[in-house]
Amino acid sequence: MPLPDDFIFTQNNLQDFIDCPRRFQLRHLLKMSWPAPVSEPMEENERLILLGTQFHKMVYQYYLGIPEEKIAHGIREMDLNEWWQAFRQNPPQGIPENHRPEIEVSMPFEGYRLAAKIDLLAVEKGARAVVVDWKTNHRLPREAFLRERVQSLIYPYLVITTGTILNDYRPFNPSQVSMIYWFPAFPDQAVTLRFNQDWVDKTRLFLTNLVKDISRMDREIFPLTADEKKCQFCRFRSLCERGTVAGSLTDEADDSPEEDLFPDIDFSEIEGISF
Ligand code: SF4
Repeated sequence: MPLPDDFIFTQNNLQDFIDCPRRFQLRHLLKMSWPAPVSEPMEENERLILLGTQFHKMVYQYYLGIPEEKIAHGIREMDLNEWWQAFRQNPPQGIPENHRPEIEVSMPFEGYRLAAKIDLLAVEKGARAVVVDWKTNHRLPREAFLRERVQSLIYPYLVITTGTILNDYRPFNPSQVSMIYWFPAFPDQAVTLRFNQDWVDKTRLFLTNLVKDISRMDREIFPLTADEKKCQFCRFRSLCERGTVAGSLTDEADDSPEEDLFPDIDFSEIEGISF
């Protein structure tokens, strides 16, 4: 099954391919929706997804300069209120003051495009850039797990490689870029990742090989993951005959079902920063 020429690689679809090539094919090539809960209890899962979305919107509005009273006015849920209070009392520390929330960055890559929508990019021109990602997990992921995520590669790689409009289109030195994962449920346990040229070289090679592997995949049915634990929180499990019961939220490991929390954006409809 060939990739469309205009296919856009994102952290979401690349992570799916790494986790399970068949999931990548079903979600991103066949665009198949499958009526199954990602985890149980379904109501709680949906509530957490909604809270996460609301929190992202509130922080987006905050960095746009909308008055706090207006932002906090609509809070109905106790969890959301606690997250908001945590953010106001203990926001990410030491980030530059030039804020660009929800910024899209993309570049040509191996005949396709590589793109990211970054929750917050804070830039001090010519000096440093900090990528901030809000993670509304109800369990704190391990730092090693976060480091391995494709998101931890693509976001800083794009910022380092392309530069942004906020840096006069000059690329940053890798050591000038960092990435912060900030958790409203654990505001004092943010994780900061730092980078260097060796990391950039390895990341470029890794992403190049990954994109080539995907674009050369000529099987009618992409391989199913051998790690059946990944099927527990996958909506295609009945289609793949990998079980019918969703994993429990209380049993979630680090690789919790984030797939529908922040779905891939439609870059064709959004004016972003492209190179
Ligand atoms: S159920 Fe398992 S094998 Fe099927 S797409 Fe999901 S992760 Fe892959």
